Amino acid sequence: MRKIALVNQKGGVGKTTTAVHLAAGLAELGKKVLLIDLDPQANATLSFGLHHNPERPSAYSVLIGKTNVKETIQPLTEMLSILPSSIDLAGVDMELSNEIGRERVLSDKLDEISGFDFVLVDCPPSLGLISVNALTFVDEIHIPVQCEFFALHGLSLLMRTIDLVKRRLNPTLEITGVIACMYDGRRSLARETSSELDNFFQDKVFKTKIPTNVRLAEAPS
Ligand code: ATP
Ligand code: MG
Repeated sequence: MRKIALVNQKGGVGKTTTAVHLAAGLAELGKKVLLIDLDPQANATLSFGLHHNPERPSAYSVLIGKTNVKETIQPLTEMLSILPSSIDLAGVDMELSNEIGRERVLSDKLDEISGFDFVLVDCPPSLGLISVNALTFVDEIHIPVQCEFFALHGLSLLMRTIDLVKRRLNPTLEITGVIACMYDGRRSLARETSSELDNFFQDKVFKTKIPTNVRLAEAPS
């Protein structure tokens, strides 16, 4: 079972789009996939047609111990399931602030997950407690990066956080992929950013770049 978090504290870079389409694509290839939505915006949950419903069991209710993970996972197709998010997740930093081992709550609660080939975690655009919990739970990190000016700005903070989590909480954590998203090869800025990514992350950058494509923006609707 490969557990991969899609992380970048920068908003709107393509984390959710990548998570949703990667999940669907892997399921089409016959892999059993669980997508965990840890963003209070619940965009991944919405993308799969699950509308806002505060009563529905969610990653939030699992984190606070109100529901167990098995009853909260919703099968979407035979191969693809989702652990939906809810807006309540936005307050979880505060709610868990006095919990002992608060960085490990997610990994503790999700321990009983089994039977999936891939578990993909869509993270919120911040490096708060939710993202740290995600990084403590997974084995691998994929970083979606938008090929724009400032794309690399802020990555050092992400690298520092990953390094700290690795040293203190999850020694086997590795970055195994960097994904250039919304890439427009006609623009020199995109090409420059992409080569900077190659220099910095070397062979961790996926050779396939995700082009800017309006159909991806329209897909959720
Ligand atoms: P947030 O940090 O807010 O959760 P995110 O990193 O998850 O954002 P997305 O929601 O995946 O980013 O993408 C941001 C916006 O860009 C969305 O409106 C999405 O539809 C659009 N988008 C993402 N990838 C592409 C693409 N390759 N081509 C065109 N539009 C895209
Ligand atoms: Mg998102």
